[in-house]
Amino acid sequence: MSDPTRRAGLETLAVHAGRTPDPASGALAQPLIASTTFLRGADGGEPSGFGYARSDNPNRRALEACLAALEGGAAAAAFASGAAAAYAVFQTLAPGDHVVCCADAYHGVRAELAGPLARWGLNTSFVDTTDLAATERAFTSRTKLLWLESPTNPLLKVADLAALARLGRARGALVVCDNTFATPVLQSPVALGCDLVMHSTTKYLGGHSDVMGGAIVAADPAGAFALVREQQQVAGAVPSPRDCWLLQRGAATLPLRVRAQSAGAATLAAWLVAQPQVHAVHYPGLPEHPGHALALRQMRAFGAMLSFQVRGGEAAALGAVARATLFTRATSLGSVESLIEHRATSEGPRSTTPRDLIRLSVGLETPADLIADLEQALAV
Ligand code: PLP
Repeated sequence: MSDPTRRAGLETLAVHAGRTPDPASGALAQPLIASTTFLRGADGGEPSGFGYARSDNPNRRALEACLAALEGGAAAAAFASGAAAAYAVFQTLAPGDHVVCCADAYHGVRAELAGPLARWGLNTSFVDTTDLAATERAFTSRTKLLWLESPTNPLLKVADLAALARLGRARGALVVCDNTFATPVLQSPVALGCDLVMHSTTKYLGGHSDVMGGAIVAADPAGAFALVREQQQVAGAVPSPRDCWLLQRGAATLPLRVRAQSAGAATLAAWLVAQPQVHAVHYPGLPEHPGHALALRQMRAFGAMLSFQVRGGEAAALGAVARATLFTRATSLGSVESLIEHRATSEGPRSTTPRDLIRLSVGLETPADLIADLEQALAV
C-alpha cells in the first residue's frame, strides 16, 4: 500500500509541481497566458481565480507552486529579479530597524542595504557569519532581520545555517537565506530553520542565461511572508508570464543540471589545487576548505561555483581570463555554459574581492575540455 505521507522526490517535484495538463486543450506543456486581465463574474468577482496579472496570473502561480515544493516551503512569491526579491524582503521592515547581513553576501544585496535602504532609514551591520559569536555580537535591540548566504559569493565561505537560524529566532529576527548558489538540490534552508529563502532564479533555476527572475519561498505563508506578498502585488516588481513559463521549464531539469555541474566543478577544483600558478582555491568540496566539514553536514554536494587566486596579481588574473576560449568571459552563473570572470572588475570600484581572484561558474561541458582551456589560459 502506498504511504500517503511520503513526500515525492526532488526530481519528481521538479517535473510535476505546479504543472497539470491544461483542462481546456489537453496540452501537456503549460499554456503561456499573456493576458493582463481576466473575465469578471456578473457580481464583479473572479470566477477563474484571477483578476489582474500583476496581482496573480496562471503562469506565475504555477511557477510559485513549483518553487515552494522544491524548497520544502509553504508558499512562494516570484519577482522580476533576485535583486527585486531581496528588496521586497527589506521593505517589509520599518525605518529605524536594524539588519545583520553576511559580510560576503552578493555585492548587489550589500549595495541595496548600504545605498537606498540606508537612505530610507534601515541600519545594517555587515558581519562574518561564519563566526557565530561575532554574529551574535552584531545584534542590537532593533535587529529585525538576519540575512544569510552560504556558500558565499565569491569566496565560497560556508556558514552554519541551522545554528544561525536558532540564533536569529532566539533574538526575534526573521532569518533569510540566499540559496542561489546551492539551489534546493544541494541545500534546504527551510529544513535548517530559516524563515525565508531567496533566489536569483536568473541563475540555476532558469539555467540557460535567457531569463531574469527572483523568488522568496516561505516556511510559513502568514507573518512576514504576507508582507512580502503585499510588496510583490502592490509594488509590482513582477516577472512576465513568459519569464515564469521559461523558469518553470528550466526547473524541470534543475536536479540533473546541478548535480552534473557540481561534479564538474569538483573535478576542476581538484585540478586547480595542483597548479603552480594558483595559490588558493575556494571550493567547499576540498577537504582543506575551512567550511568542508560543515558543508558535508548541511549540503548534499558542494555546488558548481568556485573561485581561485593566481600568482602575479591582478594582471595575471586578467590575462588568464582574457585567454580562456571555452569558458565564456561573462558575469552571472548557473547556466549550461561555463563562465569565467575577474570578479573584482565585475563588482566595480567598491569591490572588496581580492584582485587576483578568478570566479568560475561551471556548466555542462566535458570537464576535461574545461581543464584543457584553463591549462592554456594559465600558461604564461
Ligand atoms: N544573489 C546572488 C547570490 C547572486 O549571485 C545574484 C546575482 O548575481 C543575486 C542575488 C541578484 O540576482 P539578480 O541578478 O537576478 O537580480
